[in-house]
Amino acid sequence: MNNMEDIIIVENLWRKFNQLVAVNDISFTVGKGEIFGFLGPNGAGKSTTIQMLATLLRPTAGRALINGHDIIREQYAVRRSIGMVFQDPTLDGNLTALENLDFHARLYDVDKKVLAGRRGELLQMVELADRGRDRVKFFSGGMKRRLEIARGLLHHPAVLFLDEPTVGLDPQTRSHIWTYIRDLRQKEGVTIFLTTHYMDEAENCDRIAIIDHGQIVALDTPSGLKQMVGRDVINLTAKNIDQLTRDIEERFGIRGNRFDGELQLEIEQGDHFIPRLLSAVGDAVESVNLHKPTLDDVFLKLTGRAIRAANAGAADAMRAMMKRRGRR
Ligand code: ADP
Repeated sequence: MNNMEDIIIVENLWRKFNQLVAVNDISFTVGKGEIFGFLGPNGAGKSTTIQMLATLLRPTAGRALINGHDIIREQYAVRRSIGMVFQDPTLDGNLTALENLDFHARLYDVDKKVLAGRRGELLQMVELADRGRDRVKFFSGGMKRRLEIARGLLHHPAVLFLDEPTVGLDPQTRSHIWTYIRDLRQKEGVTIFLTTHYMDEAENCDRIAIIDHGQIVALDTPSGLKQMVGRDVINLTAKNIDQLTRDIEERFGIRGNRFDGELQLEIEQGDHFIPRLLSAVGDAVESVNLHKPTLDDVFLKLTGRAIRAANAGAADAMRAMMKRRGRR
């Protein structure tokens, strides 16, 4: 039985491109009003999934419902239920911000009276109210992305799909976009489904599906995922590391590991332990480093490699390809 409140239901979804299995039998549900993230390295199958859910790409097998509508048999109803912001901007640079919104409203048959109020409200929400009559080609990358988010919401969708919403933006603009995404749920009650390969961003989601080679390898809240990895790690250095190791074992009953001349302790709530540790043996300690498990650690544990490394691999492959092309 599916939960009545599940606004996205995905069952055994597949997508092949010739021999390549881009999405490999994934199943999950997203609750109404959730911010749900798909996290994984480049090439993991995130965009392919989002495109199938948005009815832009036909699944090879499997089934999905958006807002109660089947993505294959009820494409029109699905499209009316969703807003989309994709990686490649689709704004018309020669039109003003308002004209871009109006054009979209016509596509979606948004009532003229509704549109009049709605477009001002949305531009205000993304802080572009005073730029409505400016042509979009003069906007910065962040402004364009904000306008696209506003446009995606124009027809009051139940679900907003965001494919890598902050890719290519500077860190400040990225955090700005996230403020809007979080506000959106509050103001619009909209469910948000997004993809990202930034681990720090995924932390903003209520739940995250970690995807690798087309499969979901874990699905939980950010803190639930990190609990899979285990405890915090504290690294200590000292002039006399043997003595410190013995002292800590005696006083706290914690046996550390020696690692690269450092003493490494694995412990729950390391941030609370450090003050106790320092008040007991602080004189002997030269430096302390606390490492809380990150989503990268989760990915590492599940796949044996880091997301960062996996992305670097993709970036290297891309650079190599550009080089080859350049030579031709
Ligand atoms: P992500 O969004 O996680 O970076 P994608 O969904 O874009 O990953 O890609 C998943 C896999 O499917 C990759 O190996 C990619 O090269 C392949 N792929 C995606 N789209 C196509 C396509 N139109 N034709 C062939 N292969 C594709």
